[in-house]
Amino acid sequence: MKVEINGNTLELTVADITKQNTDAIVNAANGTLMGGGGVDGAIHQAAGSKLVQACKTIREQKLHGERLSTGEAVITNGFQLPAAYVIHTVGPVWNESNASTLDQKLMNCYINSLQLASNYDLSSISFPSISTGIYRYPLDRAAQIAIRSIGQYLQSHRFGEATMTLSSKDDYYVYKTELDKIINPT
Ligand code: ADP
Repeated sequence: MKVEINGNTLELTVADITKQNTDAIVNAANGTLMGGGGVDGAIHQAAGSKLVQACKTIREQKLHGERLSTGEAVITNGFQLPAAYVIHTVGPVWNESNASTLDQKLMNCYINSLQLASNYDLSSISFPSISTGIYRYPLDRAAQIAIRSIGQYLQSHRFGEATMTLSSKDDYYVYKTELDKIINPT
């Protein structure tokens, strides 16, 4: 499914993000930037070991040894990936008692990634479903935040193509429901 928003496009697809040949793919990283499970592991595996080296350099030089904060984003080359760049962002770990703060942080992941891509003059980006795997965010809640955040950004910027790259048909339909809501508000 692909919709036009203010001259930009927002697409939903079921695919392996490591195969996407957009200018950038987004990694649902953890604050260490040293790789992990899920999509993070798959991206590091496909990009090759230079990716972790680049992440180490960012930890040392840009973050002065600190972890990347939740909701923030940094950029590296894509190395062996078809995508030229990887944007690493840290999604929130779901915790019901803190939901509205976490929602804002998840929104920041999408907005900061798009802003960083724009700063690098990139015009296409693929996102995974941030925080809905190991970080256990409720899928419908995360999908609504993702679609609204990307939609808002595209509504107010000239960007290009944003894609949500989903790992299953079930995820796809949840995201499609949220996208349908912003196209045809009732
Ligand atoms: P988080 O820790 O942010 O929850 P995960 O990697 O555990 O991140 O999961 C985020 C989403 O990415 C999940 O829906 C998972 O199924 C999906 N995913 C895992 N591998 C890939 C891949 N290669 N391409 C696209 N999505 C993937």
